[in-house]
Order: sequence, then C-alpha cells, then structure tokens
Amino acid sequence: TSAHRPAAIRTTCGYCGVGCALDVVTAGGEVTAVLPARDGPVNRGHACVKGRFAHGYLTSPERLTRPLLRRDGGLEPVSWEEALGHVARGLRAAVADGGADAVAAISSARATNEENYLVQKFMRTAIGTNNVDNCSRLCHSPSAAGLTASFGLSGGTDCFDDVERSDCVLVVGANPVEAHPVVGARLLQRVLRGARLVVADPRAVGLALHADVHLRPRPGTNVALFHGLAHLLLAEGLADENFLRERATGLPELIALLDDYPPHRVAEITGVPAEDLVAAARLYGRARQPAIVYGLGVTEHLHGTDGVRSLANLAILRGAVGTDRGYGVNPLRGQNNVQGASDMGALPDLLPGYGKVTDPTARARAEAVWGVPVPGRPGLRIPEMFAAARAGGLRALWVIGEDVCATDPDSDRVAAALDACPLVVCNELFLSETARHADVVLPVTSWLEKDGTFVNFDRRFQRVRPAVPPPGEARSDFDVVHALADAMGTDLGCPTPADTLAECGQVAPVFAGLSHDRLDREGAVPWPCPDPGRPGKAKLYEERFATPDGRAHLTAAPYLPPGEQPDDAYPLVLVTGRRWAHYNSGSMTRRGGNLALDPVDFLDLHPDDALRYGVRDGARLTVESRHGQARLVARISEQTAPGQVFCSFHFPSNGVNRLTSDHGDTVTSCPEYKVTAVRVSAP
Ligand code: SF4
Repeated sequence: TSAHRPAAIRTTCGYCGVGCALDVVTAGGEVTAVLPARDGPVNRGHACVKGRFAHGYLTSPERLTRPLLRRDGGLEPVSWEEALGHVARGLRAAVADGGADAVAAISSARATNEENYLVQKFMRTAIGTNNVDNCSRLCHSPSAAGLTASFGLSGGTDCFDDVERSDCVLVVGANPVEAHPVVGARLLQRVLRGARLVVADPRAVGLALHADVHLRPRPGTNVALFHGLAHLLLAEGLADENFLRERATGLPELIALLDDYPPHRVAEITGVPAEDLVAAARLYGRARQPAIVYGLGVTEHLHGTDGVRSLANLAILRGAVGTDRGYGVNPLRGQNNVQGASDMGALPDLLPGYGKVTDPTARARAEAVWGVPVPGRPGLRIPEMFAAARAGGLRALWVIGEDVCATDPDSDRVAAALDACPLVVCNELFLSETARHADVVLPVTSWLEKDGTFVNFDRRFQRVRPAVPPPGEARSDFDVVHALADAMGTDLGCPTPADTLAECGQVAPVFAGLSHDRLDREGAVPWPCPDPGRPGKAKLYEERFATPDGRAHLTAAPYLPPGEQPDDAYPLVLVTGRRWAHYNSGSMTRRGGNLALDPVDFLDLHPDDALRYGVRDGARLTVESRHGQARLVARISEQTAPGQVFCSFHFPSNGVNRLTSDHGDTVTSCPEYKVTAVRVSAP
C-alpha cells in the first residue's frame, strides 16, 4: 500500500503525452526511484520504462551547468549576466535592423504551461511579434486545425477513461504499445476483455497482433482509406441519420464525394484488400460505442489536416461524438506538454485559449490584461522561420528545449538556417545538435526540477513539482524568460508559476477555473474549465459543437497523393517513428539505463526487400533520399511491409532527418515525416 512507500514528490511524467502521475523518491538531492502513482488519474499504478527508469540523465556529466557564449568560433562558459546581456543586446539590434518580426522563438512542448505562456507573452509584448511557435507544428498541428474545423475545439473529444469503455476501438497511425505504453496496455486490457479492435497502420505495430482487422494502407493514402470506410458506413446503413440531420452539416457534399471511393477503388489506392475494408467498416459501424484513437501516422502528411478531418467524418457519421453513443476522436500526443504549449498560445496565429491574433476581440482581451498592443498579423511557423533565416530576414532565433537540428526534417537545411541567423539562443540540458550551432547556450532545468503544470493528451491539467535541485547554475525556462525580460528592461508580471496560470485564465476564460491550489487538491482537471467551482469538461460537445453554427462539420476533401512517391531511383518508402525505450531525439533516454535496453537504432526492412537489395541482417547501409544521406544498420523484420522501411529518430548521429523532406501539410506546414522515398545500398 502507499503507506509502505517512501516519502516522495508527486509530479507528472515529462516524456510522452499520456501524463502518468509519478512519485519521485530522492536522497541527497538525487532521484533514487520513480514509482508510478497508484492513484494516478491516467496511469493508475502503471508507468513505462521511460517514466520509471530514464532519469539517469539528471546527473550526467554532460549536463550543461553554466551559460555558454560563442567566441572565436567556440562556445565558452560565461556568467548569466554576460550571457543575458549579450542576448538582450542582440535582440535589440535585431529589432532595430529588421523590426520586431526579425526575431522569432520556438517554444517547447517539454516546458510547462506557465513557461510557454511566459515565452509567448515575452515575444508578443516585449518584442512585439507573433513569431512564436512550438513543436506541435511538427506533430499535431493538423489535429488542432482538423478537430477545430470539424468540431470547434483543438483537443481530443473525450476522456480516455471513457474511450477505454468502448466496445470497438479504431486505432489509426499510432503505436501506443511502444510510444504511449500505458495507453497501449489499457487498450490491450480492454481488448482482452472483449472489445473489438481495428488497427490501421502500415506496420505490424504491437496492437495489430491483437486486432480483429489490421488495415495496412500504403503510407500517404489515409484520406482514401477513411473515405472508403465512410462510403461503406453509408452504403450499409450504418450511419446515424438522426444525428446527421440534427447535429451535423456537409452530408450532401460528402455523399457526392464518396461515390468515388467504392471498396475496389480504395483497395487500388491504399493496397488494403476490399474485404478487410468491409470488415473494418462493419466492426466500427455496428459497435454500440465506437471510439477512435490516432497518432502521428494520421497527421504527419502533406494532407494531414484532411486526414484528421476525414477520420473525424467516421465518428460524425456514426453519431459517436458529443453523444452517449461513442467516444469520438482522440489524438495521442507525442510530447508530454504538446497540448499545453498550444493551449498557452505558443503559436504564431493563436493567443492563449485559441483566440485568433487576427480577431480584434481576442486581441483586446489579451491587451486588457497585458497592457500593451498585441500585433494582429500572424507570425512565422517553424519552417518559415528557417526559410526566413536562410533568406536573411530573420536576425535572431530563440530555440527553447527543442533539438531542431536533429528532429526537424531536411536537417542539413535547418543547420544552414541557424548558421545564417546572426543570433541563435538555445535553452538546453545538453550540448545538443542545435546548441552546437548556437551563439548563446543557456543551461536549463528538466521536468524533474520544475514547478508548474502540463496538459496531457486528453486535456487534463496536472501539477509538475521539483523533486531535485538543478545542477550548477542551471535555471528553469520560467526564470530565464524573466531574467531576459529584466535584461531588456521589461516587467512581464507573473512572478510565480501559480500567478502565471491565474493570469492565463484572465486572457483565456476556458482556463479560468484552473489554479495550482485546485490542482494540488484535485490532482487532474480537464479543460474547458471556466469556473473554479465546477468540474472541467472531460467529454466535449454534449450540448452543442463549438463551431460557429453549433454543428459537427463533415469534410468532402478528396484524396490527393503524398508529396513523395517512390520511383526506380528511390524505390522504398521510409516511415519514421518511435521505439519503446527512447524518447524523441534521445537526449535524455540515451544518457542512462535505457541505452542498455535499446542501444542502437536500426533501419527495419522486410525480408523480400532484403533479398531484392542484397541486404544482410546487421549490415551497415547507406540510405539516400532526394534530400540527403544517412548511415543505418539493417534489421530484417516482417513488422515493416514490403516496399517500406522504418527507422526512429532517437539517435541523431544516424542522421535520419537528413533524409526526410520539407513537404508539409498544406494547411499547417506539419512535415511529411511518414513518406520519404529512399534507396538503400549495402557495402
Ligand atoms: Fe507514462 Fe508516457 Fe511517461 Fe511512459 S512515457 S511513464 S506512458 S507518461
């Protein structure tokens, strides 16, 4: 029982977006154990190898403990005063030379809500630009755009506790067994107790082994797949006509479009046999309470927003969203606080709470709290920041806790952008690939050393509490933003993280009912939560959708091919993703015991392709795309379909993102990580 547990600090996991509550045991200022909280709202006594064991990085001798400043080509330790003075002078010079829009910041899904709020406030009020973005641009920006267009709000529609009660779950483009293991385990448990499972993923991901139907579409053909399922729901009389009449719009246009997506045509486009498509449609269509859970396999495409919206069509057709007849459409967020970073307005077009910067009413609400005008022109998205830097228009870039040179696509061009920018400032734990290109590197704290809140994948705010002191002179991003504002002669207000969340509630009424005190008492509270005396909304849209007309909006976007196609020169399709023991660029999980669990990354390829290209298991391969080259070790695996190869992005030294393209979602610019044409050659 918890009575037998050692005294511990309760916090929220800083790895994936599940948001497991963890009890951190310490001794002598160091973490000695991380225990999954038995009363954790999401994890209920469970955690994965990342949350439990990947904390060795905290005491790594490679941790940055002093600010670094570039002099004579090298990075040298300096005082905070000198580093911040240099940055403040550089920012002032950039604004003087090119105006406020010559400065940009990439905020962080790893940082707390309060830190993200403060970063966007600094950029909008101290600098005077909307050039602030976060890494949701690279993962779930199509979810925000697609779910907002379909339903009105950018978050998932339901609480995972409800999703887990579903009698049929459609898991699309996600590998929760490895990437979100606590969710994967809870889904698997539900399936073992009788729920039906449809998995749609090109790879034989862990859950596919337990699926009633596994659809394996060619990468880049999701929209056709979803339209094929929608066609069958209508053709087989499985749509909810009352719901469609009373609560949805766009049906005639969708019906007209779906004439072009009969099973045989969808089979041609996607490679999914028509009978599998029919079986999947019947399972989802006949379930009493179907649910959809999806991941980056839906979003990271040239038409990722169309993918989200055409997937949402299925829930609308079934009346399985905003009703007691299903559990909607629920994105699995990759990073711990990618939902929160966007909720806090670290976006170039949206203020905290998703008011548009182009909307005078939304701006006026922020201006009333901040006391200064808010610029009304949307700022640059991350890929646009790099393009502007290469073109000479961006004169200062602040990168907070993101290793963009490792994780962003076409990474050689990202590095070139940083090298072209006169001032690059980097908040980091380690001398990352990005920090190596910076002019100033500021040592900051990790999630186990921070105070604030995160928002998990089903919109729950939870507290983050410092368990151990920071190493050396490292400071929280919160303190760094304040110190830089001070150096610029600006008072940002918000003296503490608790004050910051309170101010955020003034700017964004949707968060007005949240506070650190309340979270300390209640553990987890979902947004929308406008009232401190009432619970947050776990299930959305029970009364009406949040669209202007109160209805769910079906989309009739046609299938369009991906930006990359294999050909004779580049015959294989590379898909990138995550593996179980590591996390994103691996900067934390590779510095500790998890490296022994998964010491090297592989390029997985199917036995047929291994035979065709003369590749032995374990061979060192040269992998080339139209954008760059990488060296990877081959692993022959039937998990990957013929004609496709798979690799994670956890080992930047492999250079896998030298291969990926700069094709981006036509609506949000989210990179097309899931479709890159490559060729392999063995020595
Ligand atoms: Fe939970 Fe995700 Fe952390 Fe694992 S990485 S412990 S699943 S929040």
